[in-house]
Amino acid sequence: MSEPGERCGATAVFWPDDEACEAECILPPGHDPADVHEDEILGQWSEDELPTRHPAA
Ligand SMILES: [Zn+2]
Repeated sequence: MSEPGERCGATAVFWPDDEACEAECILPPGHDPADVHEDEILGQWSEDELPTRHPAA
């Protein structure tokens, strides 16, 4: 079982307007599908759409 509060933590840069917005995945580690992440404000993104950085395991 994963620790409470543990997150995937993958990040991507959104461009909702003219400014970059950093998104951070709030889903639990090992979520499925693994290439679709979700930020609590910016919403979901797919690794196909945005370059995604993963935290060091
Ligand atoms: Zn994620």
